[in-house]
Amino acid sequence: MSKLKEIQEQEIDLDKVYDYAEYPDDKVSGRCDNCNSAYFKSSVKSGIFLREYRDCGMKKSI
Ligand SMILES: [Zn+2]
Repeated sequence: MSKLKEIQEQEIDLDKVYDYAEYPDDKVSGRCDNCNSAYFKSSVKSGIFLREYRDCGMKKSI
């Protein structure tokens, strides 16, 4: 079972920033694994690019 599968079956921790390397958008690039939304906002924090999906609130460091 992949990590991607696991994360789909558990509740997303909205306080956690997921590592894009561990949880890539591998199905469709730029879309959320969780909600399949392409809407996200990007920000930069301490030199790290953060992507926050608007629909589910999941955050990833790119
Ligand atoms: Zn999402």
